[in-house]
Amino acid sequence: MTLGIRKLVVLVLVAAIFLLANLWFVVNWLEEKGVIDCAKQVRKDYLTGTAITIIVALLILLVRPGREAVSRWGLGRRCPVCDARLSGRGSYCSECGSKA
Ligand SMILES: [Zn+2]
Repeated sequence: MTLGIRKLVVLVLVAAIFLLANLWFVVNWLEEKGVIDCAKQVRKDYLTGTAITIIVALLILLVRPGREAVSRWGLGRRCPVCDARLSGRGSYCSECGSKA
């Protein structure tokens, strides 16, 4: 976990607590702006049970290609940046020059 991510987590946490503390105000504001009605309409039209099932299945099935079928060491190594096949024992990619 890098420092940037930690700072982001703290900021999101503080924002979430502020939102929770003013929940009633936020709900009223969203209602006034028509966001809730809009979201209800979108849910009714597009997020049916079938659509949610398909989205979840795709999220589970879709992975970055060429990741887990390839062994970590040996001939099948690939560059983590450009996904080019790495040859030899060098630790730098011959295509993009990044450290593998
Ligand atoms: Zn590369």
